[in-house]
Amino acid sequence: MLVLRGENAHHAGRVLRLRPGEAVTLCDGKGTDYDCTVETLEKDAVTCRVLGSHPADTEPKQQLTLFMALPKGDKMEFIVQKAVELGVSEIVPYLSKNCVSRPDKTDKKVERWRKIAVEAAKQCGRGVLPAVHAVVPAAEAVRLAAQAETALFLYENEKQTGLRDALAGGVGKTVSLMVGPEGGFAPEEAAAAKDAGLVSVSLGTRILRCETAPVAALAAVLYAGGNM
Ligand code: SAM
Repeated sequence: MLVLRGENAHHAGRVLRLRPGEAVTLCDGKGTDYDCTVETLEKDAVTCRVLGSHPADTEPKQQLTLFMALPKGDKMEFIVQKAVELGVSEIVPYLSKNCVSRPDKTDKKVERWRKIAVEAAKQCGRGVLPAVHAVVPAAEAVRLAAQAETALFLYENEKQTGLRDALAGGVGKTVSLMVGPEGGFAPEEAAAAKDAGLVSVSLGTRILRCETAPVAALAAVLYAGGNM
């Protein structure tokens, strides 16, 4: 048996208005889905009988990590929501030289972004709950991003290599995408990223907003990786 409690019990009983005997699929947030039928519904606990389980089929073939420089205002909430819908496994917010938003304390913001990630994951039926990490310095973001098989540095001043060129040889099992803030990357940040092994790529000749760039790049990587 599996028991839904708290907000999940409320959602099942009051929002979805499930009834005993109804079929429902529960997800453990770690990649497994459970086919169940509803047994009992109480205010704070919904009990479900497990009939079978299988790997969730809503995860991309690749493990995608978005490294996002802190944008102004509440843009990060939009970016987190869209990145989760587009299948990221992890989001790493970081502080770069040109970040206008430089809050002293970010833990409340990170908590808010984590909540948005859970809501977005439920809405789009993710099999895995994406992780939203604490804010790190740009150098740490570069070090982590460089560990991916396909490590992409989305650089607004890149004139040679397009995203298509970078993905022509295929998409690695792990992919990192590094996106700058409204003010873009400082030249020394671009040099450090390239030195660390990230591939500097252009998303075309237009300058995209910092909240548009990750959406466009994630969609292109999903397409190239055979997920669409
Ligand atoms: N202030 C920069 C400028 O005017 O050149 C623009 C920065 S853009 C608003 C924010 C981020 O989105 C960039 O740092 C980059 O990561 C990404 N981005 C936007 N347009 C891009 C493009 N055409 N190619 C690659 N990355 C792009």
